Amino acid sequence: MINIKFADGSVKSFENGISADAVAASISPSLKKKCIAAKVNGALVDLNRPIGADAELILITDEDPIALDILRHSSAHLMAQAVKAVYPQAQFGVGPSIEEGFYYDIDFGEKVLTEQDLPEIEKVMAKLAAQNQVLVRKEVSKKDALAMFSNDIYKSELIRDLPEGEIITTYTQGDFSDLCRGPHVPSTKWIKNFKLLSLAGAYWRGDSKNKQLTRIYGTSFFGAEQLQSYLDMVEERKKRDHRKLGKELDLFMLSEYGPGFPFWLPKGMILRRELEAFWYKVHLKEGYQLIQTPIMLNKELWVISGHWMNYRENMYTSTIDDQEFAIKPMNCPGGMLVYKRDIHSYKDFPLKVGELGLVHRHEASGALNGLFRVRNFTQDDAHIFMTEDMIVHEIAELVRLYDYMYSVFGLSYHIELSTRPLEKFIGKIETWDRAEKALADALNSMGKAFKVNPGDGAFYGPKLDFKLRDSMNRIWQCGTIQLDMNLPERFDLTYIDQNGEKQRPVMLHRALFGSIERFIGILIEHYAGAFPTWLSPVQVKVIPVNPEIHKEYAAKVLGALLDKDLRAEADNRDEKLGYRIREAQTKKIPYQLVLGDKEASEGLVTFRRYGKEESRTVSLDDFIQMIQKEIASK
Ligand SMILES: [Zn+2]
Ligand SMILES: [Zn+2]
Repeated sequence: MINIKFADGSVKSFENGISADAVAASISPSLKKKCIAAKVNGALVDLNRPIGADAELILITDEDPIALDILRHSSAHLMAQAVKAVYPQAQFGVGPSIEEGFYYDIDFGEKVLTEQDLPEIEKVMAKLAAQNQVLVRKEVSKKDALAMFSNDIYKSELIRDLPEGEIITTYTQGDFSDLCRGPHVPSTKWIKNFKLLSLAGAYWRGDSKNKQLTRIYGTSFFGAEQLQSYLDMVEERKKRDHRKLGKELDLFMLSEYGPGFPFWLPKGMILRRELEAFWYKVHLKEGYQLIQTPIMLNKELWVISGHWMNYRENMYTSTIDDQEFAIKPMNCPGGMLVYKRDIHSYKDFPLKVGELGLVHRHEASGALNGLFRVRNFTQDDAHIFMTEDMIVHEIAELVRLYDYMYSVFGLSYHIELSTRPLEKFIGKIETWDRAEKALADALNSMGKAFKVNPGDGAFYGPKLDFKLRDSMNRIWQCGTIQLDMNLPERFDLTYIDQNGEKQRPVMLHRALFGSIERFIGILIEHYAGAFPTWLSPVQVKVIPVNPEIHKEYAAKVLGALLDKDLRAEADNRDEKLGYRIREAQTKKIPYQLVLGDKEASEGLVTFRRYGKEESRTVSLDDFIQMIQKEIASK
């Protein structure tokens, strides 16, 4: 007999070798029905795995968030099984679950898979799922695994990379076997509500030197309703595509003459200027000094910074007076020159120097995507110079600042801490440990939860990444805070300490929006183009009921609005009132003022807020006060 301890602390005896499945059944049949996997002593396992010793057991039901990952990963297996049935030549890479579903990277050989092929695969998946095939786990030796997957070049490669003597597991459902650690749903009947969504190219093991495989994305849910509401959201995201809205709202354009180099149109320029003005205002208040460094600088500088060695293939270059120049891919080296212009004292610290700097980075033409992937963008950069004992406080200050700025846009976020890479890193391990601890301490002191990504830091220092979640539940990596132990060395940065001696400062790179262009792209989709009033290119549309009669009053109202620096336009065209109102709606202008006889004679305005049904009539002065208050409070 063995003792099983449950999550609530209670302990029960069972026969040695009992499965979590049988334990669940002994508690209640309805519990067993809901269970899809288990945690034994903290490790996730299949429900039918025998438990061979005293253990702590947590049953994972379909309501547990982990269960959804297991379902989705199992759906990837089912998809691979279906693909193999339809395309026997297919070779399989990897098929994990991801934030919103799953994917599998597959080599289809000669066949070029298109989205039209997905329904056929879905059909076979449904058929296989209905057969309620059990997923059978098997432990095999490396030799056996290699023999089993000898026809599969990618799986063979993965197996060869596994350490000698490690237990390798395979899972078989029907006639399909896959190399996998598990766990999975007990049988394919769980996979009922799934959908294959899209295709993408993905290099084997993420390396562009390797073959490009076809990645099939799909999603899977326990409930049909959950799947449907997810699919509805995917549709809504398509409607919000910033490339489409950018065109409809006259914000920006792209031209074949400048692939990846966005053009800002008058309306987009207003939005952009507002965003930048907000950024400047807040940063000045936070004690930042603002600079601008040149777009092009001599190659020698990029040699010192290391970019010439490590980043050359992403940089554009040119020649001036027979000397090679590079267009900056980052603002840092220019910032270093500004720092070195003066002698610094510890008393100047923290020294916070910001720059909205236009950088150019080469991206493959196939990777370009509206404002999300461009070849030039404006980084909202800053470098913070300080002593090591200031790190905790300064990080906390930054997190507070980021927290405020993101909240203005209604964007929530989570933080990830990336630590020292295992192999390629500079500096002493003790320094890294101290730096990582300082970052973690700062977050802990603020009660901020964060996720640790071990080994994911840059070679020159650990970093914090801020992942924003938009209104469509998507995650965007925007803000970063990076500690840099490299550039202060390379540029021989110094400051004078209390004892009059030269010391090396600690340096942070930080960006809050990341790229202004990309951030605007995110905002367009986040707000579906209906920007808050303070950001809106046009804030008020003045619409006289009959332009012939009410033109004069409309001009008076427009003048009053413009006087108060409100962005307003009048629509005096000889078009039907309904038509002009609808057009203001499609341009998503926050306020429409309709002015008729009553308004004109009594100095009133009748306004309607974008997206609202009802209109209200107030005095012009009251309207101006109301909108000013709204803008001031963002
Ligand atoms: Zn698996
Ligand atoms: Zn920098």
